[in-house]
Amino acid sequence: MLGQMMTLPLTIASVLDFAVRFHGDTEVVSKTVEGPVHRYGYADLAARAKQLAHALGELGVGEGDIVGTLAWNGYRHVELYYGISGIGAVCHTINPRLFPDQITYIVNHAEDRYIFTDLTFVPLLEKLAGQLTAVRGFVVMTDRQHMPSTTLPNVLCYEDLLAGRPTTGEWPSVDENAAAALCYTSGTTGRPRGVLYSHRSTVLHAMAISFPDAFCLTARDTVLPVVPMFHVNAWGIAYATPMVGAKLVLPGPHLDGASLVALMDEEGVTTTAGVPTVWLNLLAHIHETARPPSRLRRVVVGGAACPPAMMDAFQQLGIETIHAWGMTELSPLGVINRPTVRTEALPTDRRKALALKQGRPPFGIDIKVVGAGGEELPFDGTSFGNLKVRGHWVCGGYFRQEPMATHDQAGWFDTGDVATIDSGGFMQVVDRSKDVIKSGGEWISSIDLENIAIAHPAVREAAAIARPDAKWGERPIVIAVLKPGATASPEEIRAFYSGKVAKWCEPDEVVIVDSLPHTATGKLLKTELRRLYGQAAGLSSSPPNGP
Ligand code: AMP
Repeated sequence: MLGQMMTLPLTIASVLDFAVRFHGDTEVVSKTVEGPVHRYGYADLAARAKQLAHALGELGVGEGDIVGTLAWNGYRHVELYYGISGIGAVCHTINPRLFPDQITYIVNHAEDRYIFTDLTFVPLLEKLAGQLTAVRGFVVMTDRQHMPSTTLPNVLCYEDLLAGRPTTGEWPSVDENAAAALCYTSGTTGRPRGVLYSHRSTVLHAMAISFPDAFCLTARDTVLPVVPMFHVNAWGIAYATPMVGAKLVLPGPHLDGASLVALMDEEGVTTTAGVPTVWLNLLAHIHETARPPSRLRRVVVGGAACPPAMMDAFQQLGIETIHAWGMTELSPLGVINRPTVRTEALPTDRRKALALKQGRPPFGIDIKVVGAGGEELPFDGTSFGNLKVRGHWVCGGYFRQEPMATHDQAGWFDTGDVATIDSGGFMQVVDRSKDVIKSGGEWISSIDLENIAIAHPAVREAAAIARPDAKWGERPIVIAVLKPGATASPEEIRAFYSGKVAKWCEPDEVVIVDSLPHTATGKLLKTELRRLYGQAAGLSSSPPNGP
């Protein structure tokens, strides 16, 4: 017997329709590429998304067509999120930090019909335009006054495209399982892979990140996603804020510590989200000026492990860190670290150790770790193996790719991370399976070694990698960047490990460098570090008390 409840499709446009009726004048504030701050309400945003939808129709873009964006976090980009998906087309956010040939590959692989670009990326597109085979035209996201002279073929001005079009009209009916957005993994090895989100997965994910035990988004919050809208849809924040009626603040290209703190203060930002490298810059600026953002309460840290030193630094400022783990394939939220009644009652040192874990899944996601034979390992906090995931917003396969070994018969996705899960369900990433250091048959977590280095008062950022070793297979080395003005010798930093890890886990060498390479999504680029510093050492290497 079927239930007798209404089944309204979970579509992206329905989120905006809701915001218009109940949070229409809640602000969306953007620092623009052109310079000035732009502000309007969700009702204005919806009116312009409708104008865009009419314009797209006239350009011949319809259901199932893919439209690319190369843009910062700004109001026009949000209009594209809703306007493109609203008509049943697919919004393909392109990461401008990818290598140019990767951009060409993904635009051609997706067969993007049009590309909407911020002024910043016009020169980049001019170089690639001749190779973008399916693209019919380019739209520069600016007004007539700021239109650049460009060699781009079939170029249009965004504001001209919208001008005079109807601001009203019903969205077409779209199946909730239809594709809504497309994002490619950053692909440090091999080709980037496309993850095709549906309306349903996007709406459910936006609900889940809003939960009190997730990002805790409410109509009393002002949210600034530093995480770019071209990196897993800014972790879903531009869908969640109109859903809960939170004010949305978008920083445009201005991501340095000083600009972020100023914007946070001007707009009363309570919640922000981004990768650890961004927070290193922000914290460095706050320490220089001794002026933290006055209303900031929560910082979501994800995309890479949050070092304990970073949590301590925020805590001293009265700001809570919310450590989260996710992936492009998971829309991205997989697990999040929030206390429970039981963990809050633990002594401080145990609570601190627990805070380092990535956390527990919200409803909608299931996780397990499996051993080499595929058997599920116990939730005991020590057995580690491959982390597998399934859930309502986990990709079921890659876009335009044959089924891959990443997805097993039972419907679980292999994340490529190695992890433990404890009896409370808290998952901890030991390492990316490609980055784990195997010494004498034992595993050493590069994340653990990096966290210790960063706890040294002189160290700003650190990477631990494996160096091939004739005797032990691999040995860890640490490459560190010092804080501005700080001094420490490699030996001092190496000595800092004493007593913090087993003797055989201590790095064989510490190398001090000026900067570390990062991927297009702000993670340490370990393939490059291994190429630069991971040359095999001779037989002489002999870790004390080896396993
Ligand atoms: P991406 O798809 O580019 O977002 O990368 C996903 C990968 O980033 C994951 O598989 C992890 O290896 C890593 N990652 C994301 N969040 C965290 C975290 N909180 N701690 C450790 N690794 C993380």
